[in-house]
Amino acid sequence: MHESCGIFGIYAPGVDVSRLTFFALYALQHRGQESAGIATTDGKRIYLHTAMGLVAQAFTEDELGHLHGHIAIGHSRYSTTGSSHPNNAQPLLVETDSESIALGHNGNIVNAEFLRDELFQQGYSFSTTTDSEVIANLVLSSAERGLVRRIRHAMRRLRGAYSLVVMTKDKLIGVRDPMGVRPLCLGTIDSGWVIASESCALDHIGAQFVREVEPGEIVVITKNGVKSFTEQSNAKALCIFEYIYFARPDSVIQGRLLYPARQSMGAILHREHPVEADLVMGVPDSATAAGIGYSHASGIPYCEGLLKNRYVHRTFIEPDQRLRDLGVALKFNPLSEMITGKRMVVVDDSIVRGTTTPRVVSMLKRAGAREVHLRICAPPIRYPCFFGVDMASKWELIAAQKTIPEIRDVLGADSLGYLSIEGLIEAVALPKEIFCLACFTGDYPIPVQLEMDKLALEALPARGLSEIER
Ligand code: SF4
Repeated sequence: MHESCGIFGIYAPGVDVSRLTFFALYALQHRGQESAGIATTDGKRIYLHTAMGLVAQAFTEDELGHLHGHIAIGHSRYSTTGSSHPNNAQPLLVETDSESIALGHNGNIVNAEFLRDELFQQGYSFSTTTDSEVIANLVLSSAERGLVRRIRHAMRRLRGAYSLVVMTKDKLIGVRDPMGVRPLCLGTIDSGWVIASESCALDHIGAQFVREVEPGEIVVITKNGVKSFTEQSNAKALCIFEYIYFARPDSVIQGRLLYPARQSMGAILHREHPVEADLVMGVPDSATAAGIGYSHASGIPYCEGLLKNRYVHRTFIEPDQRLRDLGVALKFNPLSEMITGKRMVVVDDSIVRGTTTPRVVSMLKRAGAREVHLRICAPPIRYPCFFGVDMASKWELIAAQKTIPEIRDVLGADSLGYLSIEGLIEAVALPKEIFCLACFTGDYPIPVQLEMDKLALEALPARGLSEIER
């Protein structure tokens, strides 16, 4: 399962903003690894560099040196709408005769195709296939006066998830959709300001966390400081997978540090699904904290049964089946001596298609594990995501097709236990009402449009979500 992007912005006169943006993107690399980019401005023009690959591959010292100015935005991308192509790398620079804006987007716009057609008919052209360019053109097309009003106008038309960093020649703007599906936070650095997907990016560059950008909020940073504007927000729908998997465990979201939240998931998993075993392990790295939580709660010793090759990045570099097969072996190496003859509790973050987990189970069994008891930090995923998480169509989701005992058999595990929705909410220790739980429940937080899409999806088993949207 993959998230869509990491975004960052900085307004800091007298500071090397391109270099700080580079290091902030480094900290946000886990949110997207297909392309990276930075746009800066010195007040006179906008400078832009984007490239395919990891942040470290996308920039040379020389390229950073050409990104002048005191305002910057940065983006690391995993494509959800629009293919993995250099043209679709962000930040996007969209220019009209009279103005230019650079934009970085994390999320997915549900009605992007409709809006694209409408803008196309109005004479707007598109140089990418991303929904992010739809947002930029929608802002520029507004007849309202002033950028904030035009953004508000666009927000009323957009349906879906969007956390944005927007840069003009004199402003840095952060925007979070009214449901707050993706996180966004605000911080200070020296005499300037920063905006980032996650607080861990602030920590790494020596910035101080101030607060989260609220759902529906527009934060405008100029030489006069920060101003906030709020678009009406009726229902909140923060993606619960930020807590389970996407965000880094050293990030704070809604005042909750993720590491202990994940430990609690493991502890509650033990309460809900205890088992007699010799060792507990978390599948590295995303389930490590939950594995430790299970171990503490159960008293079963924790062990690193699999070592992760941290220099092989997530296994979607080439998303075909042959390379997916290779991916698990490239990524993990079992510690046979530690696990031979042992009954293992293996804690993992989630099961989507159920294609990777059987390879992990068989790898552990081949390495000598006597029993493998899988414990999953998420409830069964039975519905696809409409908000920018590239998981699968309903017909590929194993929990939409099979019962839990059937899934256990497919995975080759000796037992299987999923965290309940109630247990998950207890672990994050925040009100259930602020979260999107749609991939577990099918209750999508955008009622009309999505219910229609959902019905269409049910009716067309052979087609995936992206085709329905189109
Ligand atoms: S459907 Fe699931 S993955 Fe998508 S935003 Fe909601 S909770 Fe997150």
